[in-house]
Amino acid sequence: MALPVNEDMYPDPQGNVRALPRPGAPLAEVVAALEARYDPALAEDWDAIGLVCGDPAEAVHSVLFAVDPTDAVVDEAIERGVDLVVTHHPLLLTPVHGVPADDPKGRIVHRLIRAGIGLFVAHTNADRAADHGVNDALAAALGVGNTVPLESVGAPHTNTLVVFTPVEDSDRLVDALSAAGAGVIGDYTRCAWQTVGTGTFIPGDETNPAIGAHGRLEHVPETRLEMVVPRAAQADVLRALHEWHPYEDPGYAVFENSQTPSRAGLGRLGELAHPITLREFAERAAAVLPVTAAGVRVAGDPDRLVRTVAVCGGSGSSLYDRAASARADVLLTSDVKHHPAVEAMEVPGPAICDVAHFASEWPWLPVAADVLRRDLGGRVDVAVSKRRTDPWSLHVAQDGRDVGVGEGAARG
Ligand SMILES: [Zn+2]
Repeated sequence: MALPVNEDMYPDPQGNVRALPRPGAPLAEVVAALEARYDPALAEDWDAIGLVCGDPAEAVHSVLFAVDPTDAVVDEAIERGVDLVVTHHPLLLTPVHGVPADDPKGRIVHRLIRAGIGLFVAHTNADRAADHGVNDALAAALGVGNTVPLESVGAPHTNTLVVFTPVEDSDRLVDALSAAGAGVIGDYTRCAWQTVGTGTFIPGDETNPAIGAHGRLEHVPETRLEMVVPRAAQADVLRALHEWHPYEDPGYAVFENSQTPSRAGLGRLGELAHPITLREFAERAAAVLPVTAAGVRVAGDPDRLVRTVAVCGGSGSSLYDRAASARADVLLTSDVKHHPAVEAMEVPGPAICDVAHFASEWPWLPVAADVLRRDLGGRVDVAVSKRRTDPWSLHVAQDGRDVGVGEGAARG
């Protein structure tokens, strides 16, 4: 038996280099990893996200990412022999009371289950997610940096716990409070602020003091320890405080924090490294996004300069006013209708770049695939679907007939 040539590859008896089979992970663990990145709490109330089919106890060795759960994507999943398909759009957005195989959606459920393939959906939670969501991926593909959400989601409510402890007990207490859920800021854990000072107290006659004697003023080197506490974890944290603090009556206080904006939310606003014309920006979008029949449409003067860019994957024209108040030069989104576009062009504000819905969300697929592979320590193979699920098949350009700017209606 030949030795592997590197951690992922080995030569077979014919001398061909082949990929080692991945050890895999239970579907439940894959779902947990996806939900850690694409928090279900970020989804709209009307959305239909999460696991559609699949046994959480079964192993997943390979995952295929696609925009839409169509028959063509199921064909590809079966051909590739994957165990799980992750799509952006839900299969069953409107409630159903059955999945008969002679119904188009029911047929897909049947085909997946017969082939032993699970289906997981991350939709509006993936739109809003920070860092590896649909809108971050779209902005990054277009070269838009320093992004913030166009419509930010409030960070989870937190409190700040302030507790005084003997200096020598401080680190142990930080460990205990962290284990109970305190001290998490973004991807950082065990966050604490510690300042050393002097605590003073007089133990009463009925007390049993850890330090000091009844009726005598004590001076003790103490740490003022401050940690952020998610409100949902506060009861656990206070239980840990009373369990681990050496004093029978620990001195502590809890302060309510006002809600801060998070990095999660709809759309993104950011800057290009250098200003370019609207025409060049549209050409860039056409070059970096998947080819679709619709291509890229622009509303606005093609020669105006753009630097501040708003993007929203999917149908995002409702964010036009936010893009305008943020002084964006252009909003790139999809499914923009006639009337909102006409009204937008009647007043000063961002130009509009309208791309295919499928194209605007596609950049998320390689990003989500890569982050899942890394989060699972390389135990699963990931792939991005090669099937274009954009429904439009033909676009007839009226070449040689210049649309001009603001002259379209005059051509009758
Ligand atoms: Zn969409």
